[in-house]
Amino acid sequence: MSIVVEGVSKLYGKQKALDNVSFEVKTGEIVGFLGPNGAGKSTMMKIITGFIPPASGRVLVNGLEVGTDNTDVKRQIGYLPENNPLYPEMYVREYLGYVASIYKTEKNSKKQIDRIIGLTGLAPEQNKQIGSLSKGYKQRVGLAQALIHNPAVLILDEATTGLDPNQIIEIRNLIKEAGKEKTVLLSTHIMQEVEAICERVIIIDHGVIMANEEKSRIYSLVNQSRQIIIVEFDKAVDSGQIAAINNTWNIRLIKNNTWQIESDTQEDIRPAIFNFAVSNNLTVLSLQKQQSNLEEVFRHLTS
Ligand code: ADP
Ligand code: MG
Repeated sequence: MSIVVEGVSKLYGKQKALDNVSFEVKTGEIVGFLGPNGAGKSTMMKIITGFIPPASGRVLVNGLEVGTDNTDVKRQIGYLPENNPLYPEMYVREYLGYVASIYKTEKNSKKQIDRIIGLTGLAPEQNKQIGSLSKGYKQRVGLAQALIHNPAVLILDEATTGLDPNQIIEIRNLIKEAGKEKTVLLSTHIMQEVEAICERVIIIDHGVIMANEEKSRIYSLVNQSRQIIIVEFDKAVDSGQIAAINNTWNIRLIKNNTWQIESDTQEDIRPAIFNFAVSNNLTVLSLQKQQSNLEEVFRHLTS
């Protein structure tokens, strides 16, 4: 079940939160929706889930237009809103039963609740009050309520924000597991999140799409203009000697005899470094071209 966003704009008063946004999430894909705070991620997700209408443009889920009153489409969508609003005084199982009843999944409802409680690892907590749970377990409840009606599409807004590192890994694994047979759009401002879970990344800033690429291809967006080489020699070298090879390089000693050399040129600088070593009677113990990471791409595109 695909998500198609076509020319969506949204205004809050005079402020444009989304400006003619278009993208697609194909059936079965897990796509990261990445952007700094205030970029428009939550607004876009509220429009996809039909919570608020766009000012212009439209969203199609499985070819059907999401309107604020289109319950057939909404039944196909599981949504974990930002900050995961829950009823703290309700009990886990009671709450999931309540959500299931809203979606009228009463047929085999108990079986489905059991399945989702198992999937989200909530079995030991199912008779506890939501308010008494840790943040990680509350987030599991949030995921469980998004999954309870077995939707084909999952919209997850900052699902791991505010969790400790162990909880983050647990929730990411859960998303991967639950997302196996679903179309997933997840928002985050954490680059590693996308690295860990997603196949594709859409970067948004100030309501405008800045990039939409396969994860493996997004690095090429910044790679072209800059290269970083890490070289380790067998002996100490003076920085002036390296600078003498090319005075435009940015040079830094990162540990014993190991240098980071940054160049703004496209031309591979490794042969020059290698030749320098040979003519100075140095042995090159290692020579690596550093991959730029998603964080760098992100800053490059949203700065
Ligand atoms: P993100 O989720 O990427 O942090 P949001 O979609 O929450 O971004 O917000 C996008 C912009 O729209 C922000 O500048 C925010 O202040 C503004 N905004 C969001 N919701 C509202 C609202 N209900 N009323 C007024 N402004 C809003
Ligand atoms: Mg948000």
